[in-house]
Amino acid sequence: MTVPPVTLRDVTSDDSTIAPVLELVGVNAGYGRTTVLRDVSVTVPKGSVVALLGPNGAGKTTLLRTAAGLLRATTGKVRVGGGDMTRCAPNQRVKRGLCLIPEGRGVFRALSVRDNLRMQVPPWAAADDAIDRAVAAFPVLGKRMNQLAGSMSGGQQQMLALSRAFVTEPRVVLLDEVSMGLAPRIVDQIFAALKGLSERGVALLLVEQYVNRALEFADVVNMLDRGRISYCGAASGLDEATVLQGYLGVDTSGTTSLGVRSPSDDR
Ligand code: ATP
Repeated sequence: MTVPPVTLRDVTSDDSTIAPVLELVGVNAGYGRTTVLRDVSVTVPKGSVVALLGPNGAGKTTLLRTAAGLLRATTGKVRVGGGDMTRCAPNQRVKRGLCLIPEGRGVFRALSVRDNLRMQVPPWAAADDAIDRAVAAFPVLGKRMNQLAGSMSGGQQQMLALSRAFVTEPRVVLLDEVSMGLAPRIVDQIFAALKGLSERGVALLLVEQYVNRALEFADVVNMLDRGRISYCGAASGLDEATVLQGYLGVDTSGTTSLGVRSPSDDR
């Protein structure tokens, strides 16, 4: 009997060179009987940066979790690299080139930086090269290889969590509020690393509380409002005030309680 090579990354896509790296088409999803996403369609073209903005509770995290396979779409399709992954488990989507960086710092605090990085290395990657890529993106990690992850600063832990996006050589990275709670200087470093990833052709789907940063970085903006896409268009045509007032109904005179923040709040 021939055993399929489960440890190999699936690059046998039908049309992965031209298809969007990630597509949600007419997706409904939620928790138990509660539907959160309603008829949501989002396209992430190869090498693009797509921002997903919306108020608290709009369903942004739910959308990322549905794309990653942690939640099943009840209707609609999820395609990764051109292949239908709607019914596929998260690890199959990872093999197909999807990488989720969830909200919060998903690191093993009691393990060293080196061991955290080793655990991120997928079966198809050479461990030393993969770890070198992470250290090239975040040099501070290279100086702290033997340190326990939990003893590092919040920013360094976030860099360690983000290393997964460099270690696994994905096609598309889903980023859930990776700047949350971090000092502007650290956020700058993280965005510089993400820019490097993007310049190497990796597509990004970015949930971000800092609207200005998202608009500066993204090619396309999708707004989610109560589980529905309320706007999709080029980021270049938008400014922060338009986004906050026009689409999210936020008074821009102060910090909002709607999960979107102005960089001026922290600078
Ligand atoms: P935030 O910016 O606050 O993270 P969000 O746009 O990411 O918001 P989600 O976290 O996706 O929104 O939540 C969307 C809706 O789903 C909310 O009403 C939330 O209460 C609900 N929800 C989220 N997680 C669960 C869960 N595990 N079980 C039940 N309902 C949930």
